[in-house]
Amino acid sequence: MSPPGHDHEHPHHDAAPSDIEQRVKRLEDLLIEKGLVDVAAMDELVDTYTHRVGPQNGAAVVARAWTDPDYKAWLLEDATAAIHSMGYAGRQGEHMTVVENTDEVHNLVVCTLCSCYPWPVLGLPPAWYKSSEYRARAVSEPRAVLEEFGVALAPDVEVRVWDSTAEMRYLVLPRRPAGTDDLSASALAALVHRDTMIGVALVEAH
Ligand code: FE
Repeated sequence: MSPPGHDHEHPHHDAAPSDIEQRVKRLEDLLIEKGLVDVAAMDELVDTYTHRVGPQNGAAVVARAWTDPDYKAWLLEDATAAIHSMGYAGRQGEHMTVVENTDEVHNLVVCTLCSCYPWPVLGLPPAWYKSSEYRARAVSEPRAVLEEFGVALAPDVEVRVWDSTAEMRYLVLPRRPAGTDDLSASALAALVHRDTMIGVALVEAH
């Protein structure tokens, strides 16, 4: 039920729970009943990956790098420490490398083996990142993949593909778009979306 004054539309408001929701609920009840999960720990985990961990963290890192040359230098030299210093740490963020897009180089991140991904700065990976097609084609034909994502690179731009593993996870530092000199770090962060930090999109000034 919605509390009073909470009047915006919810897609499933008052509708019967979907089959998948019922199955998830039954599974959750069973895990709790068997003592396999702790409710508070589960709520904490859901809250973490719903509200506190996501691409907004990576966007804050990128915006700071764009506006603070000392921070950018540190980020490129020791990404793990520079990212941890902003409070973004945790599972799948233990060992980080940041790769910078320039006029000459465009970086693209993949995990060819599975779905290694920097959770503390990007959240959980999108389905396409985990697909066998992306995992294979990002390596074999990165320019074609980039074109399908709408990224057209000049022929003389070198494409570098980074294969994330359990030992090292990569974050792309995208190019700062022209015409954004007057923007604050928080306004810049709002321009930086998840895909730009995987390397399958470019940051556009609004
Ligand atoms: Fe992996």
